[in-house]
Amino acid sequence: MWIPYNYFTMHTLHPIIHKHISLKPYHTFGINVLAAGLAQFESLGQLQALLATAEAQQFKKLLVLGGGSNVLFTQPFDGLVLKNNIDGITVVAEDDEQVWVKAGAGVNWHALVMHAVNHGWGGIENLALIPGCVGAGPMQNIGAYGVELQSVFHQLEAYHLHDKTCVSFSLADCSFGYRDSVFKRALKGQFVILSVTLRLQKQPKFNVGYGAIRTQLEEMGVQELTLQAVSNAVIAIRQSKLPDPAVLGNAGSFFKNPTVDASVFASIQQQFSAVVGYPQANGMVKLAAGWLIEQCGLKGFRLGQAGVHGKQALVLVNHGNTTGTEVLALSKMVIAAVQSKFGVVLEAEVNVY
Ligand SMILES: Cc1cc2nc3c(=O)[nH]c(=O)nc-3n(C[C@H](O)[C@H](O)[C@H](O)COP(=O)(O)OP(=O)(O)OC[C@H]3O[C@@H](n4cnc5c(N)ncnc54)[C@H](O)[C@@H]3O)c2cc1C
Repeated sequence: MWIPYNYFTMHTLHPIIHKHISLKPYHTFGINVLAAGLAQFESLGQLQALLATAEAQQFKKLLVLGGGSNVLFTQPFDGLVLKNNIDGITVVAEDDEQVWVKAGAGVNWHALVMHAVNHGWGGIENLALIPGCVGAGPMQNIGAYGVELQSVFHQLEAYHLHDKTCVSFSLADCSFGYRDSVFKRALKGQFVILSVTLRLQKQPKFNVGYGAIRTQLEEMGVQELTLQAVSNAVIAIRQSKLPDPAVLGNAGSFFKNPTVDASVFASIQQQFSAVVGYPQANGMVKLAAGWLIEQCGLKGFRLGQAGVHGKQALVLVNHGNTTGTEVLALSKMVIAAVQSKFGVVLEAEVNVY
């Protein structure tokens, strides 16, 4: 039997650790910052080998990266960056109505969405074109256009860096919230997510009530809803509104949409009648952070090479050669301006290092 040479080299060779390497190509803000080391892994075995080397070489800290589309580096990373490339999409179970799909943490998220759409499996079509990898999805319970990962999440497998064991997490274990999970809080930095299993629907239930999806479908002349049509509408909206990181460095929404007490919302509304609020199940009201920033006159504002995006004020961008500290300074200016005008404190969605 002929076995490609790469088969062995990919899965058995100890991955190389590159020392003092620029992280610029490894994250979408495109900031030139050095890491003490960087290595890529494609299997649990390779990860374990790398962790042993990292211990022997006394790397001070570790950071797992997927596509680097939700990080901002404000200083050199004084540790080992582990780029997760674990591949593979498999159906692990199915019945008449549902299919359980397991994807390696290094699978590109949008590729997984397209795989589901092409197989007629519903549930993640509204999450098309979110950059990054599957393994980072549960970190912040990725969401867009009225759908969050938690609505299709079944379980994930993760490797505990200290105990050196693999652990399964159910939906309840993940404590998902709005752009939030246990991995951003109590278990921060403790686990490497290896794979994620989603429960998708063979008879899709479409969710087109949010944002501009319906209008976009009309503009596209769509008569009958299909997974392709909905994902195409989402892709078209995203491409028209959000900067492409390949052209203008960014990490998507820099801030979370804040939630405030209904009484706070009422008093903001008294002063600013155009304010839009989305009532939440817990009685709080969610505000659009982009709108708040825009009202402060900051849309398109620049601080050196860092800027607030001209079309979507929620996104901070790299106009060419900015630094992480400059972006951070801009984010603090934005937070201060919104707080002073509305009394609302914005919180970063991006992971700052
Ligand atoms: C243009 C643009 C649009 C975006 N739109 C959206 C959107 O609509 N909705 C949304 O929710 N997000 C959005 N994002 C943010 C981002 O794409 C998501 O958060 C995505 O899930 C990040 O994936 P990543 O692989 O790039 O993660 P990274 O940036 O590599 O990592 C993010 C965090 O997760 C950790 N991490 C990554 N992989 C693992 C792993 N395997 N195990 C443990 N920890 C891990 C990292 O250490 C880091 O703390 C957008 C970003 C951009 C640039």
